[in-house]
Amino acid sequence: VLADAPACLEREELSFIMIKPDGVQRGLISDIIARFERKGYKLVGIKVLVPTQALAAKHYAEHDGKPFFPKLVNFLSSGPVVAMVWEGKSVVKYGRTMIGATNPLASPPGTIRGDYGIDTGRNIIHGSDSVESAQREIALWFKAEELADYTPSTAAWVYE
Ligand code: UDP
Repeated sequence: VLADAPACLEREELSFIMIKPDGVQRGLISDIIARFERKGYKLVGIKVLVPTQALAAKHYAEHDGKPFFPKLVNFLSSGPVVAMVWEGKSVVKYGRTMIGATNPLASPPGTIRGDYGIDTGRNIIHGSDSVESAQREIALWFKAEELADYTPSTAAWVYE
Protein backbone atom coordinates (compact mmCIF):
# COMPACT_ATOMS: atom_id res chain seq x y z
CA VAL A 1 0.00 0.00 0.00
CA LEU A 2 2.84 2.41 0.86
CA ALA A 3 4.36 1.96 -2.60
CA ASP A 4 1.07 3.17 -4.11
CA ALA A 5 1.09 6.34 -2.04
CA PRO A 6 4.44 8.09 -2.43
CA ALA A 7 2.98 11.44 -1.27
CA CYS A 8 2.70 10.13 2.27
CA LEU A 9 6.47 9.64 2.37
CA GLU A 10 7.29 13.31 1.77
CA ARG A 11 7.55 16.07 4.38
CA GLU A 12 4.13 17.69 4.67
CA GLU A 13 3.26 21.12 6.08
CA LEU A 14 4.45 21.91 9.62
CA SER A 15 2.75 23.95 12.35
CA PHE A 16 4.02 25.20 15.70
CA ILE A 17 1.48 24.30 18.39
CA MET A 18 2.04 25.29 22.02
CA ILE A 19 0.06 24.39 25.13
CA LYS A 20 0.32 27.55 27.23
CA PRO A 21 0.89 27.56 31.03
CA ASP A 22 -2.88 27.49 31.75
CA GLY A 23 -3.37 24.40 29.60
CA VAL A 24 -0.48 22.63 31.31
CA GLN A 25 -1.64 23.53 34.84
CA ARG A 26 -5.19 22.42 34.03
CA GLY A 27 -4.07 18.98 32.95
CA LEU A 28 -5.01 19.35 29.28
CA ILE A 29 -1.75 18.12 27.73
CA SER A 30 -2.92 14.59 26.98
CA ASP A 31 -6.31 15.69 25.64
CA ILE A 32 -4.78 18.23 23.27
CA ILE A 33 -2.14 15.83 21.99
CA ALA A 34 -4.82 13.16 21.52
CA ARG A 35 -6.93 15.49 19.36
CA PHE A 36 -4.10 16.17 16.92
CA GLU A 37 -2.99 12.54 16.96
CA ARG A 38 -6.49 11.16 16.29
CA LYS A 39 -7.02 13.62 13.46
CA GLY A 40 -4.11 11.96 11.70
CA TYR A 41 -1.45 14.59 12.24
CA LYS A 42 2.09 13.52 13.10
CA LEU A 43 4.07 14.74 16.10
CA VAL A 44 7.60 15.56 14.98
CA GLY A 45 8.86 17.73 17.86
CA ILE A 46 7.93 18.22 21.52
CA LYS A 47 9.50 19.79 24.59
CA VAL A 48 8.45 21.10 28.00
CA LEU A 49 10.09 24.34 29.11
CA VAL A 50 9.49 27.54 31.05
CA PRO A 51 10.03 30.20 28.37
CA THR A 52 12.16 33.21 29.30
CA GLN A 53 10.51 36.62 28.95
CA ALA A 54 12.85 37.25 26.00
CA LEU A 55 11.65 34.12 24.19
CA ALA A 56 8.00 34.92 24.95
CA ALA A 57 8.49 38.48 23.63
CA LYS A 58 10.12 37.22 20.43
CA HIS A 59 7.35 34.68 19.91
CA TYR A 60 4.70 37.41 20.22
CA ALA A 61 6.81 40.17 18.57
CA GLU A 62 3.92 41.11 16.23
CA HIS A 63 1.96 42.27 19.30
CA ASP A 64 4.79 44.39 20.79
CA GLY A 65 3.35 47.79 21.72
CA LYS A 66 -0.24 46.62 22.17
CA PRO A 67 -1.85 47.14 25.60
CA PHE A 68 -2.04 43.43 26.36
CA PHE A 69 1.59 42.68 25.35
CA PRO A 70 3.30 42.95 28.79
CA LYS A 71 0.67 40.74 30.46
CA LEU A 72 0.86 38.25 27.59
CA VAL A 73 4.66 37.94 27.85
CA ASN A 74 4.50 37.63 31.65
CA PHE A 75 1.83 34.98 31.40
CA LEU A 76 3.61 32.87 28.79
CA SER A 77 6.79 32.83 30.88
CA SER A 78 4.94 32.19 34.17
CA GLY A 79 5.25 28.39 33.98
CA PRO A 80 5.91 25.41 31.77
CA VAL A 81 4.57 25.23 28.25
CA VAL A 82 4.50 22.27 25.88
CA ALA A 83 6.04 23.35 22.58
CA MET A 84 5.27 21.06 19.66
CA VAL A 85 5.68 20.73 15.92
CA TRP A 86 2.93 18.83 14.12
CA GLU A 87 3.10 17.72 10.52
CA GLY A 88 0.38 16.96 7.98
CA LYS A 89 -1.69 18.22 5.09
CA SER A 90 -3.03 21.73 5.86
CA VAL A 91 -2.02 21.38 9.52
CA VAL A 92 -1.63 25.17 9.89
CA LYS A 93 -5.16 26.06 8.76
CA TYR A 94 -6.90 23.00 10.13
CA GLY A 95 -4.93 23.25 13.38
CA ARG A 96 -6.38 26.75 13.80
CA THR A 97 -9.86 25.32 13.16
CA MET A 98 -9.30 22.73 15.88
CA ILE A 99 -8.03 25.44 18.27
CA GLY A 100 -10.89 27.87 17.60
CA ALA A 101 -11.21 31.64 18.00
CA THR A 102 -8.86 33.84 20.05
CA ASN A 103 -11.71 34.57 22.48
CA PRO A 104 -12.81 31.20 23.94
CA LEU A 105 -16.34 32.53 24.49
CA ALA A 106 -16.60 33.16 20.72
CA SER A 107 -15.20 29.72 19.96
CA PRO A 108 -17.72 26.95 19.29
CA PRO A 109 -17.96 23.75 21.33
CA GLY A 110 -15.79 21.09 19.77
CA THR A 111 -12.83 23.46 19.47
CA ILE A 112 -10.09 23.35 22.09
CA ARG A 113 -10.65 26.93 23.26
CA GLY A 114 -14.42 26.53 23.04
CA ASP A 115 -14.37 23.38 25.13
CA TYR A 116 -11.90 24.49 27.81
CA GLY A 117 -11.53 28.26 28.05
CA ILE A 118 -13.36 31.43 29.02
CA ASP A 119 -11.02 34.46 28.95
CA THR A 120 -8.87 35.53 25.96
CA GLY A 121 -5.83 35.84 28.25
CA ARG A 122 -6.30 32.21 29.34
CA ASN A 123 -6.99 30.57 26.00
CA ILE A 124 -4.99 27.39 26.58
CA ILE A 125 -3.13 26.98 23.32
CA HIS A 126 -1.24 28.68 20.51
CA GLY A 127 -1.20 27.62 16.85
CA SER A 128 0.65 29.25 13.95
CA ASP A 129 -1.62 31.45 11.80
CA SER A 130 0.22 30.92 8.49
CA VAL A 131 2.87 28.69 6.95
CA GLU A 132 5.32 31.62 7.15
CA SER A 133 4.58 32.18 10.88
CA ALA A 134 5.01 28.45 11.44
CA GLN A 135 8.47 28.52 9.88
CA ARG A 136 9.51 31.51 12.01
CA GLU A 137 8.10 30.02 15.22
CA ILE A 138 9.57 26.56 14.65
CA ALA A 139 13.01 28.11 14.10
CA LEU A 140 12.57 30.15 17.29
CA TRP A 141 11.62 27.21 19.53
CA PHE A 142 13.41 24.22 17.96
CA LYS A 143 16.76 23.23 16.50
CA ALA A 144 16.61 21.30 13.22
CA GLU A 145 17.94 18.15 14.93
CA GLU A 146 15.06 18.24 17.42
CA LEU A 147 12.55 17.51 14.65
CA ALA A 148 12.01 13.87 13.74
CA ASP A 149 11.48 12.80 10.16
CA TYR A 150 9.61 9.50 9.94
CA THR A 151 6.70 7.80 8.24
CA PRO A 152 4.12 6.28 10.58
CA SER A 153 3.00 2.80 9.55
CA THR A 154 -0.55 4.23 9.42
CA ALA A 155 0.29 6.88 6.79
CA ALA A 156 -1.39 5.01 3.94
CA TRP A 157 -4.56 4.73 6.08
CA VAL A 158 -4.69 8.48 6.56
CA TYR A 159 -3.62 9.71 3.11
CA GLU A 160 -4.93 8.23 -0.14
N1 UDP B 1 -4.48 38.30 23.70
C1 UDP B 1 -4.90 38.91 24.85
N2 UDP B 1 -5.77 39.99 24.74
C2 UDP B 1 -6.18 40.44 23.54
C3 UDP B 1 -5.74 39.80 22.36
C4 UDP B 1 -4.88 38.73 22.48
O1 UDP B 1 -4.53 38.50 25.95
O2 UDP B 1 -6.96 41.41 23.49
C5 UDP B 1 -3.56 37.14 23.81
C6 UDP B 1 -4.26 35.79 23.63
O3 UDP B 1 -3.70 34.88 24.55
C7 UDP B 1 -3.91 35.42 22.21
C8 UDP B 1 -2.52 36.02 22.06
O4 UDP B 1 -2.58 37.23 22.80
O5 UDP B 1 -3.90 34.01 22.03
C9 UDP B 1 -2.11 36.31 20.65
O6 UDP B 1 -3.11 37.05 20.01
P1 UDP B 1 -3.55 36.72 18.51
O7 UDP B 1 -4.41 37.83 18.04
O8 UDP B 1 -2.32 36.40 17.72
O9 UDP B 1 -4.49 35.44 18.71
P2 UDP B 1 -4.32 33.89 18.37
O10 UDP B 1 -3.55 33.80 17.07
O11 UDP B 1 -3.58 33.25 19.52
O12 UDP B 1 -5.74 33.37 18.27
